[in-house]
Amino acid sequence: MSNGKAIWWQNLSAQEVLDHAKKDDIAILPLGAIEQHGPHCPCGSDDFNAIGLAGKLSEKTGVMLLPCPMYGSHPAHHWGMPTNIPLRYETHIAMIEDIIKGATVAGFNKFIIISAHGQVSSTIVAVHKLGIDGIFTISLHWYDFLRDQKNILETGMWHADEAETSMALYLYPEFVDMSKAAKGGGTPLVDPKFIIGPGLPAGPGMMYHFEGTFGRPEYKELKNGIIGDATLATVEKGEKMVTTVVGYMAELIEDIRTRYEPGVKPLETEPPGDSPWA
Ligand SMILES: [Zn+2]
Repeated sequence: MSNGKAIWWQNLSAQEVLDHAKKDDIAILPLGAIEQHGPHCPCGSDDFNAIGLAGKLSEKTGVMLLPCPMYGSHPAHHWGMPTNIPLRYETHIAMIEDIIKGATVAGFNKFIIISAHGQVSSTIVAVHKLGIDGIFTISLHWYDFLRDQKNILETGMWHADEAETSMALYLYPEFVDMSKAAKGGGTPLVDPKFIIGPGLPAGPGMMYHFEGTFGRPEYKELKNGIIGDATLATVEKGEKMVTTVVGYMAELIEDIRTRYEPGVKPLETEPPGDSPWA
């Protein structure tokens, strides 16, 4: 199904998009955000990460990619940070719904959002609003597909840090200035032992890091816009992260393709009778 090239909706003619949907009706929506990423990485880092991951996934699997809308929604503590441009949750949720509903008109029936930015506050709401309308949508955050990050990274993953900067060095080194990379700060409002950081495995007595307003506003908290240590970033770590995450995402696409023929809407199928959880 793949000829090794990424398939972007906006680069194709209408007929080419329609023909693709008849053969494979899965579409990927990469989502990032416009957000400061320290003195060394660009404000579009999360978009470039989402676009880069989606591109590699399409090269590997031949899956259709929807254009990335660039702007995203943000957790509360990001608001007011200079150079961040957050969309209101309502705007972002509506945007995701409109993009995906628009793509269904061309014959696409299965959707995966690849988010490279912490915006579950709107993406998960959008998924369930679409689900009520019968549309199968998965919203994954790339770091959630990196539970084995301790094999790759020396530190936990946060923001403009070892992890994100490594990915930037691999995907868009022309926009990264490692001479400005530094260590950053950030102190949570409760003991960090309660918080499941991005990409880390869950343990007993822990909450997902977006289940509370666990951070003070970043404009007060962060001196250089970094949470973590960007000086530890390398292109090799970035390549390993991208390869690992794209590998898992390709498995997910294969699973969906194996279960549901093109044209089939997963939410409208009959239960098979035997449950993997029974
Ligand atoms: Zn980021």
